[in-house]
Amino acid sequence: MSTYPPADDRLRHLIAQRINCHVDTWKLAFFIADAIRDDSDVCREIDRIGAAHAVGQPCGDRNCRSCFTITVTGVDS
Ligand SMILES: [Zn+2]
Repeated sequence: MSTYPPADDRLRHLIAQRINCHVDTWKLAFFIADAIRDDSDVCREIDRIGAAHAVGQPCGDRNCRSCFTITVTGVDS
């Protein structure tokens, strides 16, 4: 069983991992990830998208990979 990212701080670590590919230091990536995770607009949008998907509805985000996959393959990923 993997212990990374930690279950109690998973979202921030996942965001920081992606940012870390594009910035010079892990510290900066973590700082940016912290700000994103704490942004209430971002959190509300994640919740809205998750709620739509949970009931099998398209979320309406044109960049949503899940909705694109369903449209193309007819199979929920
Ligand atoms: Zn979607």
